[in-house]
Amino acid sequence: MDKIRLGKTGLMVTRLGFGGIPIQRLSIDEAAAVVRRCIELGINYIDTANAYTTSEECIGKAIAGRRKDVIIATKSGGRTRADVEKHLALSLKHLGTDYIDLYQFHNIADKDSFNKVMGPGGAMEVFQEAKKAGVIKHIGVTSHSLDMAKEMVVSDIFETILFPFNFITDEAERELLPLCREHDVAFICMKPLAGGMLDNATICFKYLFNFPDVIAIPGIEKISEIEEIVGILNRPYKMTKAEEQEMQRLRDELGSSFCHRCDYCRPCTNDIQISTVMIAPSFFKRQPPERFFTGGTAEAVLKAADCTECGECETRCPYHLHIIDTLSERVVWFREEKARYEATLVKKG
Ligand code: SF4
Ligand code: SF4
Repeated sequence: MDKIRLGKTGLMVTRLGFGGIPIQRLSIDEAAAVVRRCIELGINYIDTANAYTTSEECIGKAIAGRRKDVIIATKSGGRTRADVEKHLALSLKHLGTDYIDLYQFHNIADKDSFNKVMGPGGAMEVFQEAKKAGVIKHIGVTSHSLDMAKEMVVSDIFETILFPFNFITDEAERELLPLCREHDVAFICMKPLAGGMLDNATICFKYLFNFPDVIAIPGIEKISEIEEIVGILNRPYKMTKAEEQEMQRLRDELGSSFCHRCDYCRPCTNDIQISTVMIAPSFFKRQPPERFFTGGTAEAVLKAADCTECGECETRCPYHLHIIDTLSERVVWFREEKARYEATLVKKG
């Protein structure tokens, strides 16, 4: 598999990486088999996070004895020294390694988070000390906010940025990618399938593989999924006329309903976590049900029932999404899915 340079890190990575969110739904052995198959297919870039429950442990099992063959990228959502110290120690233990190739600040969404990690007693102190000690080799960042991402790329503090990128919108291509090139910051693409909202892998990956310096890291749960994507990578990427038409149809259809998690709609007058609720079905597809129905997303969706329909958020959404209607649909959807899940538990006894 072709390798490309990971920006100023100088690491050479396959342009197709492995995204470690969905393996949380599998047993450790099943997940390790998926990761091993990805490595066999030639993938050398593996992404995970402290927050992805069992993901690091599964990857640790899969890479045992072949640590040098892979580049491990993980993340900490900690904002303080104490949190990151704890997360880093856990990541090393779960991954069964004594170094991490790329350690990323997980989801820096706004200026407050950025200032916190960079300030005294903030997360950056641990990142820098660990880098000096050789425990982490490179420092990156992840975000869903285009404005924050642009600011962080031009800051020249980070070596990589992990940002959502797919054919639904071209903002990342127009505004972020040129800055990454200018500052030699690697652009790693999350959500190539729009967080599970797109299922036409051929169109999604043909689109992405046309950017020769973008690394795509689809979340993989099944061996058949990665084999399909590798098949696309091994063919010419030029889309057929029919594929181009289908891409445009999907753009038109989803462009007006797809939540970018940019959070420009915040704050909600009633403390509803709007973007979390908007994309809840995507979490549902990727998380184990016992976690989904008891975790923060479930709490956020239930809270959405308190929406007063004041409309403030809709005036701020740059994509003119129908937030109020969507929130109400999500509440109904959640209750139905939860009832279905509880029924399966009763059946199992
Ligand atoms: S319309 Fe609902 S979600 Fe939007 S700001 Fe008002 S209460 Fe919050
Ligand atoms: S609802 Fe609109 S403003 Fe809010 S996160 Fe989604 S895309 Fe951004």
